[in-house]
Amino acid sequence: MRQGRSSSQKYEGLSSALESLEEIRRRAEGKRLAVFVDYDGTLTPIVDQPEDARLSEKVREILSYLAAHFPVAVISGRDLSDIRERVAVDKIVYAGSHGFEIAFPDGRVWEHPLAVDYLSFLDRVESKLEERLRRIGGCRLERKRFSLAVHYRRVAEAHFAGVEKAVYESTQDFPELRLSGGKKIYEFQPRVEWHKGKALLLLLELLDLNRPDVLPLYIGDDATDEDVFQVLQARGLSILVAEESWPTAAHYSLKDPKEVQTFLQRILPLLQGNRNEIHAGGKVTRQKPRCRRK
Ligand SMILES: [Mg+2]
Repeated sequence: MRQGRSSSQKYEGLSSALESLEEIRRRAEGKRLAVFVDYDGTLTPIVDQPEDARLSEKVREILSYLAAHFPVAVISGRDLSDIRERVAVDKIVYAGSHGFEIAFPDGRVWEHPLAVDYLSFLDRVESKLEERLRRIGGCRLERKRFSLAVHYRRVAEAHFAGVEKAVYESTQDFPELRLSGGKKIYEFQPRVEWHKGKALLLLLELLDLNRPDVLPLYIGDDATDEDVFQVLQARGLSILVAEESWPTAAHYSLKDPKEVQTFLQRILPLLQGNRNEIHAGGKVTRQKPRCRRK
């Protein structure tokens, strides 16, 4: 399920971020980079069971290294505690439940002030869906503080319609909640005007990064990340992670989490104005230029 897209979105032909490093360096010239990343499908490959999406040690080290030089935030649909445990890097900001809750490195936690009023509706839709989906094998509910996810990646295709029906009926029962979707997932959230893009704008404010000399970079792979791509269309850099690009507001693309890893490894030395490359373990060694000159 994809969310609405504006006519300004491109349909194909996104340049690879890896092949555009020189262009990215030019766009970042004189600016301070702020790095925002999604988790599932971006830092880790999509897996059948969400609990199996573990961050590699190498990517963890790259994130730690980046966090020593730039503001870094992970914005995920996962529960806040879940995403913090999975990434486990100090000094970075964690936004869980699509930005409904945000934890800062100093221990402060922000919760969307209106979303707390919707917790009882989430409890009730959870019971209702447990009942409605009981007979559909492979379907899994995941309750997060500010959302309820219905994962159907492991459901036989013949039963997709059954999942859809149960989800649709629940949207009728609980108009207080809004339905969104992604890769084999339906998600109920508070019907509050809030999404990852708005969470990113809030983070720019709260971290004192809402300034013309800051260049926000965001990398994400799914429908909910489009809200961020839209927000950054005129003022940042955004990268869609996808094998094939779809209608998107993102500026560049990367094929998969492996390419994201390579890209993150290369941007720090690039933006520091040299050709060094970070190696896992935090060492920096001199490398031959890898950017394609235009
Ligand atoms: Mg994702």
